[in-house]
Amino acid sequence: MRMSAPAVTRFAPSPTGALHLGNVRTALFNFLLARRLGGKWLLRIEDTDLERSSEAHLQGLMQDLRWLGLGWDAGPDAVDAQAGPRAQFRQSLRGPVYVEFFARLQAQGLAYPCFCSALELELSRKAQLAAGRPPRYAGTCRELSAAAVQARVAQGARPALRFRVPVGRELVFEDFVRGPQRFASNDIGDFIIRRADGAAAFFFCNAVDDALMGVTEVLRGEDHLTNTPRQIMLLQALDLQAPRYGHLSLLTGDDGAPLSKRHGSVSVRELRERGFMPQAIVNQLFRLGHAPEQEGWLELAQMPQQFHLQRLGRAPARFDETQLVHWQKEAVARADVPMLLQWLQPLLPATADTEHRRAFVELVRANVVVPEDARPWVDVVFGELPPPGDAERQLLAEAGQAFFVAAAAAARTHGADLKQLTAELRSATGRKGAALYMPLRVALTGRAHGPELAPLLQLIPPAAVQRRLEAWAH
Ligand code: GLU
Repeated sequence: MRMSAPAVTRFAPSPTGALHLGNVRTALFNFLLARRLGGKWLLRIEDTDLERSSEAHLQGLMQDLRWLGLGWDAGPDAVDAQAGPRAQFRQSLRGPVYVEFFARLQAQGLAYPCFCSALELELSRKAQLAAGRPPRYAGTCRELSAAAVQARVAQGARPALRFRVPVGRELVFEDFVRGPQRFASNDIGDFIIRRADGAAAFFFCNAVDDALMGVTEVLRGEDHLTNTPRQIMLLQALDLQAPRYGHLSLLTGDDGAPLSKRHGSVSVRELRERGFMPQAIVNQLFRLGHAPEQEGWLELAQMPQQFHLQRLGRAPARFDETQLVHWQKEAVARADVPMLLQWLQPLLPATADTEHRRAFVELVRANVVVPEDARPWVDVVFGELPPPGDAERQLLAEAGQAFFVAAAAAARTHGADLKQLTAELRSATGRKGAALYMPLRVALTGRAHGPELAPLLQLIPPAAVQRRLEAWAH
């Protein structure tokens, strides 16, 4: 770790879709690294692809990060609109900065205009593949004279700009996840840094911005590993300091295929809408491709101390929703009552008084993973029961009418006191244990399983208790 410069990490999403779990894991790890090193965490928006980027996606991803508790130290939301391009955290507003650095490279002969059309490039690629060579830019425009360039431009041609990759250079860097990496520059063709339409290419602005923003450590997906030697060469050419890079293993579904929609909810937004809690998601992500020393639940504030680069794995990390459900149960068990009230609020009847709601959420929390699971219990306590299923109906019939006549009478006398109610019912019917409790539970709740019966009984209005017991008494 460099001791001199303060650590700066960043998350650099492109706002072209919903924030998915792979990206948000990258965000979390960079956030934790910055916190652990006592440094800063930046949010930089890579929106140079104007067609695919949108304001709605940008707002959505900032909302998702905040909801997860991953607030950034500097980002697009805090920049004064009047500030200059260098102060911006949206690449679409940093154009003049890139123009300056393109000019520097061109002035030194380290970048050159390229007029090759998409078709020419494709033909060249195919020819190289057919000859059994890995395809790379053939260098067609590498040595065009200034006069030739001028003539093409005068005819209206709009060139792209290519970086002139140095010949015969070996690029070595230490990836802090994958160890030493070596690339030969001769295997890397001259690459585009500005497209023909004038837009800066990803390689370029990503590398230049890291350097200008003082980023010291970059953790990103392993799909970027082969970009890294190109970016290091660019920064060397510009005499800018490259960050240290670490490439995270791919996130896959439980079948080992890259995580995608067909594995279920893979965006933060979908998980939030289903009622997963941010703490559960963060606990799950913390363990995807990272093996913490401590196995159990961690608060986000505890994670930086438990986050170690040496514990990042190289093997693909599997996301399995059953593990997320495990952390969600933990999160629900740890949530305080005001949080639970808010979480279940859309399901709770507005007319119910606060004490009743509080008691309800405390009682059902152990039976609820996502809010939707609370719906049947909302009906039991605040509404009506659906008609029983066949198995339940059979159990009620087996208990018999006399049982429910006695049960309704005991409930009238003892109200919601289950202990006294069952004592009277036991002596009246001779039933005990499951034969006593099960028909009561099924008649009162419609199901054979659920939260503890004694406190549940106290939450059901006495009139509903009578109705449900009497329904089976004749
Ligand atoms: N915008 C790039 C991405 O979303 C950033 C890559 C990086 O972190 O360097 O993949």
